[in-house]
Amino acid sequence: MGFGRTTYAIGMRQRFRRITVREGMLFQGPAGWAEFSPFLDYDAAECVPWLAAAREAAETGWPEPVRARVPVNVTVPAVGPEAAAAIVRGSGGCRTAKVKVAEPGQRLADDIARVEAVRDAIGSDGRIRVDANGGWSVDRAYQALAELKRFDLEYAEQPCPSVEDLAALRRRTDVPVAADESIRRADDPYRVVALDAADIAVLKVQPLGGVAACLRIAERIGLPVVVSSALETSVGIAAGVALAAALPELPYACGLATVHLLTADVVTDPLLPVDGQIDVRQPVPDPALLAAAAADPSTSRRWSERLATVENVGAR
Ligand SMILES: [Mg+2]
Repeated sequence: MGFGRTTYAIGMRQRFRRITVREGMLFQGPAGWAEFSPFLDYDAAECVPWLAAAREAAETGWPEPVRARVPVNVTVPAVGPEAAAAIVRGSGGCRTAKVKVAEPGQRLADDIARVEAVRDAIGSDGRIRVDANGGWSVDRAYQALAELKRFDLEYAEQPCPSVEDLAALRRRTDVPVAADESIRRADDPYRVVALDAADIAVLKVQPLGGVAACLRIAERIGLPVVVSSALETSVGIAAGVALAAALPELPYACGLATVHLLTADVVTDPLLPVDGQIDVRQPVPDPALLAAAAADPSTSRRWSERLATVENVGAR
């Protein structure tokens, strides 16, 4: 595919999704640079939409934007309260914080302390959402949200693992529910609508097959959309920004301010927020930064093989 191709391996500042190094491939095609970076635990079939998203960026390009800037949230990992507050204060003016909760090995008291610290740091007019990554049962989610909602929650993202659980919780709690994994890792992303399981849909460009595919999903799903990243470099983030820029309505801040979670980037002008917003643009990798981020030969070989496997599965 495309003209140039690099495999990158970049450290994570904080363990995220249990990974400490982010890996992926960057391609250059006639329409621009593209990122293909499915997480390492995803099998070839699950990687097919990620490749479709990369092909779109490299070969087709993205729909026209309807806005020039995208409001974004700061993401607060499952850290202690002091660290959480420092992340909010250093967020580039973000007025919305997404706080990770329900971390394995932690207690509800840890979540409460973290969310309280974030509320103090962001102020009473800031918005706070929590993301449990499906870590709660319906009962635990109900109890946790009953405690956490005193800090005024915008919504709870994927509080429980299954669509049925989300629907059951939604009938009990008055905190709005956002579906993330239930859309991007589900066989049928529209079940959340059929079961009345969510108030908000979180869409991610790579796992859902590209910007145009996400726009079609957004239209059919009929819920307010929050665009989030898959922890990409600025090359992949640009696709998320393009989606957020092309959506007819954008009532919530997007989860696209994640480049700072990486220890390096491949562009000299990273897609980071200024005054809580990311400008709509497509930065081009810098050759020296690409070289600095390049993976070792065995990692590069592994990714070339992975790409070939996914191409084969996708062509079937
Ligand atoms: Mg999420």
